[in-house]
Amino acid sequence: MAIEKTLVLIKPDGQKRKLTGLAIDRLERSELELIAAKVVPVTRKLAEEHYEALKGKPFFENLVRFFLGEFHGIKNCKLLALVYKGENAVAEVRKIVGATNPEEADPKSIRGSFGKINPKNGIMENVIHASGNLEDAQREIALWFKKEDIAE
Ligand code: UDP
Ligand code: MG
Repeated sequence: MAIEKTLVLIKPDGQKRKLTGLAIDRLERSELELIAAKVVPVTRKLAEEHYEALKGKPFFENLVRFFLGEFHGIKNCKLLALVYKGENAVAEVRKIVGATNPEEADPKSIRGSFGKINPKNGIMENVIHASGNLEDAQREIALWFKKEDIAE
């Protein structure tokens, strides 16, 4: 198995609902190593770049607004970004985080325990982001972190 790096973000709902510590606690039960952590101001440009693969989806605009904190009363939204490293890190973190749809996610996962679907706009407010595959992980880590901010 390969040593991988993966990106985690605490989304605005997770921040607002004070689930940051809980999410880190669950991730810390893995064998993975935390190698970077940073609070990053989120601009529309960064949000759109982060989710560039979803451009064109009907929910894209509301997803960006969610990410900017607009549905949680957060102004000048800043998100905690983390990088975890270890064997199979991408899949390991995804397992702890759970499936995209919180209603379908394993109830033991972070999203399954705490995520919900916003009844007004259908956006899946699922507490935490985790890179979906190795290619996304590499792209996303480069988007959120400078090389020198990663402790390797
Ligand atoms: N999302 C949503 N509705 C959908 C699909 C996705 O609200 O039908 C949101 C959800 O917050 C999700 C994010 O868009 O986490 C990114 O979607 P992706 O398919 O990449 O899911 P993820 O990789 O986050 O599990
Ligand atoms: Mg994804």
